Amino acid sequence: MSMSMNSPISQYIIIVIISGVLSVLLAIYAYFNKSNFSGMKAFMWSTSLSAVYTFAFAFELASDSLRDIRFWINIEYLGMPFIAPCSLLLVMHYVGLDKYTAPKKVWILFVIPAITLIMVTTNEYHHFFYKLLSLRPDAPSAMVDIVPGLWYYVHGSFTSGTMFAGLFLLISYWIKTKTLYRRQMTTMTIGISLPMLGSLLYVLGLTPLGMDPVPILLFFTSALYVVSIVTSGMLAVAPIAREHIFESMRDGVLVFNLSNQIIDYNGAAAQIIPALTPSAIGKKLEHVWKRGAETGAFSFGLDLKDEYEQELKWIRGKETYYYRIRASNLLKPGGEIVGRTIVMIDVTEHTQLQNKLRHLAETDGLTGIYNRAFFMERSRELLEQTRRMQQPLSFILFDVDHFKEINDRYGHGIGDLALQHIVGICRQHLQPGDLFGRYGGEEFAICLPNTTLAQACQKAEQIRKQIAASPLQGSSQPISITSSFGVTEARAAAVPLEVLVREADVALYRSKHSGRNTVTLARNDDTHANEVI
Ligand code: GH3
Ligand code: MG
Ligand code: MG
Repeated sequence: MSMSMNSPISQYIIIVIISGVLSVLLAIYAYFNKSNFSGMKAFMWSTSLSAVYTFAFAFELASDSLRDIRFWINIEYLGMPFIAPCSLLLVMHYVGLDKYTAPKKVWILFVIPAITLIMVTTNEYHHFFYKLLSLRPDAPSAMVDIVPGLWYYVHGSFTSGTMFAGLFLLISYWIKTKTLYRRQMTTMTIGISLPMLGSLLYVLGLTPLGMDPVPILLFFTSALYVVSIVTSGMLAVAPIAREHIFESMRDGVLVFNLSNQIIDYNGAAAQIIPALTPSAIGKKLEHVWKRGAETGAFSFGLDLKDEYEQELKWIRGKETYYYRIRASNLLKPGGEIVGRTIVMIDVTEHTQLQNKLRHLAETDGLTGIYNRAFFMERSRELLEQTRRMQQPLSFILFDVDHFKEINDRYGHGIGDLALQHIVGICRQHLQPGDLFGRYGGEEFAICLPNTTLAQACQKAEQIRKQIAASPLQGSSQPISITSSFGVTEARAAAVPLEVLVREADVALYRSKHSGRNTVTLARNDDTHANEVI
């Protein structure tokens, strides 16, 4: 080496060597942290290869014969062609494309670099890589001028293509996750762009002394990668996890902008709403919503301040699904509303169970009509309601005559059938608004809104007649059944239900005493409560 330590070239060599040392340090850091991030191995390789390249480059700069320069160029190419594919792999890990980075799939990325290495080391036999490699006559120290061969261009295109692919992945991922990891993405993007920019300046002859800045820039690239990886919340797991969770959620999620256009949705949402396809992005919600939805009152208020939750019944094919819909605003860190999200939670199982439990709690298992408690609850509401609207309400109570005998003679099973038989007859006489309940063992109650005492009496008479005229077709002979009825009307202003029941019960008692199978109207003196209150 014939230059002085103060010459620009020797300063440059020192910078290159420092860059190489730092790359080695980063490679060591990567080695000890390789379990933190799936892309750490790719990073370790790219920094190690950068270090090889950088050191060899320093030696190339320091060489003073063409033979030495050739030797160090060979060493450079042990590292350099492989850096870009390693960077691409790192980026793929970073943006969550891990599943495409298996050695079985990515070896193809290393074919051209391997050929490049072979081409460079065997160049003197074919000159495919360098047509000509000669010492630069005017340089302050031994430097080479090259005339590129065919493979030089292949290598160059492949390397820049790979870098562009990495850049593309980063940018498209950046656009997708922009609010969350903007800084990390920017850092990474600058990192990958630096050597690309350096090569461009170098090719355009814009670098100081016509030096190749890439070996130095590679250190900065690696450093920016590390910063980006480390600050991504322990190594890029978080954004990937977010993406993963979003996609693997069982709940459907829809994201809207302020004009109610669909911006994003997950797989579960697409399963719930088949019209949600990639072409639905940018469309209004109403566009995809209508199909199959029994929405009723469901509407998307344009008032974006309003957040709400509601249940939605959705019929798809033969199946009925229930969703809990939760709409909420999407806020920027500053609190500004930028859109809204709708989460659709499948509560079908829960709702079906709830419906079943409710049915069990409200109805009588044998006859399927209301049980006593629920009948009374509903009757109380109805009484309240008709009173408010100043409409009449009547009440029928009836009890099967000599039912014990039926049980005793034909057995409990036939007794049960008789009860179902009676309920079936009774149902034929009821209107949609009427309430029908099993008041006791073989005692039934009917609450008739909008019905006067006379009308109720008529109805009771019809039911009585039909029961008496429809013997139960038992196993051997028909079994005649009769019932006794008591009928009353809510006359005074505020009659409690209990009073009505008592009146009807007294009337029923009279029916039993007057020989059964009759209808008796409650008399005003059956109870005083009706008048007093
Ligand atoms: P009365 O005409 O005075 O009403 O005579 P009754 O035999 O009907 O008298 P009571 O009310 O004392 O008897 C009712 C019987 O109904 C008693 C009970 O064994 C029977 N019973 C109550 N619930 C059921 C049921 O779910 N299935 C059957 N098979 N029998 C029932
Ligand atoms: Mg009875
Ligand atoms: Mg009874």
